[in-house]
Amino acid sequence: MRTENPYESVMDWIRKNQGNVAAIGLAKLILSLWSDDAAYSVRECMRLLNDVQTEWAWKMITHCLRQGDDNYLNVIGPEVCRLYPSLSKMGIAGSAAKREFERKHVKEICSPTTAIRHCIICESVVQPHGTGYSCSKCNVLLMGNAVEVRY
Ligand SMILES: [Zn+2]
Repeated sequence: MRTENPYESVMDWIRKNQGNVAAIGLAKLILSLWSDDAAYSVRECMRLLNDVQTEWAWKMITHCLRQGDDNYLNVIGPEVCRLYPSLSKMGIAGSAAKREFERKHVKEICSPTTAIRHCIICESVVQPHGTGYSCSKCNVLLMGNAVEVRY
């Protein structure tokens, strides 16, 4: 069964309106759907779209969530990169920066800020200290495995 291609009519419009802010937003959305490596926020992609363009965006998002990376998306993704090389470079730079931040801060990202850590010896609340935690009651430094996390 042939599925509808929601991208081609949008791509036609982008080709004819390359400098338009809505075309840039739609191009960012296509890049984001096509590649994790060049992802923009939904808000950034859609904030300058009118009602008709917003409808196009929802159709593309819905189609992508249902079909994943299909041939249609794999054709227009590279075309958007050729039309807007700076947008793809900026998307790649942003995604790389987020991955680098995540690599450095994985512990904080994975632990909600509401997590409270307790000393496993005396059960007092501990404070971050260097790469571990300090318990002021026991007057010791504890590594992560000597700390109990409660929410
Ligand atoms: Zn303690």
